[in-house]
Amino acid sequence: MPSAPRSLPIIGITANHLFIDSGSYKGHQRVAVVQDYIKAIIKAGAVPLVLPTAAPANIIHQHLAIIDGLILSGGNDIQAHLFGEEPHRLTDECCPERDHYEITLAQLAAKQRKPILGICRGLQLLNVAFGGTLYQDLSLFSPNVHQHTQKAPTYAASHSVDIIKGTMLHQVFGCDTVQTNSFHHQGIKALADGFVVNAKSKDGVIEGIEKMDESYMLGVQWHPEFMVEHHPSMLDLFHHFVKATHR
Ligand code: MN
Repeated sequence: MPSAPRSLPIIGITANHLFIDSGSYKGHQRVAVVQDYIKAIIKAGAVPLVLPTAAPANIIHQHLAIIDGLILSGGNDIQAHLFGEEPHRLTDECCPERDHYEITLAQLAAKQRKPILGICRGLQLLNVAFGGTLYQDLSLFSPNVHQHTQKAPTYAASHSVDIIKGTMLHQVFGCDTVQTNSFHHQGIKALADGFVVNAKSKDGVIEGIEKMDESYMLGVQWHPEFMVEHHPSMLDLFHHFVKATHR
């Protein structure tokens, strides 16, 4: 039987690397991603494809050859040495294999002009992959930051974010302020070369970055995939990203 022609763009979604510490599979490792990314990509008219968390370089090249766009998903903290710092005591669990895989994949995707959407950790990864740095905990940015690890449900908006006029993100939402959820304790310190800040919370934390030259790289510090159902405008972000794969 001949294979079906490819009509929809394929979006690679990076995953978490989990260690199983009980039950029959104790001691094994699991690759997992929350299903909300998958649902959002399908709703936005593309084909989601969950990627592994570690692979040799030749396999990473093959992964990139399959996909038309890349979502860097949420997850663990990024190792501090990757942005030239010693680990602060407030840095949380890290996964070296995943850091390596995602940085390699993001740099290759950028070279090949494949669109990248970074979500939460994904925004931080984008910044680090292209030379930026992070606050290892937002308390190091300011003791007065608002609550960025919300206690409200994942779909609920908790803090406001000002969208900077003239940015691609402003085109996506078409307004100056959006309400977002928030599940991060780290944030961007020094911005990677060539990127611009497109969103900030009222306390000055960077909530979005983008690079819009010949490539398409967009990052948001919140989790739009969790909000799509209750806040449909968050789907616009995925639509915009999927559209960019057609360029
Ligand atoms: Mn936040």
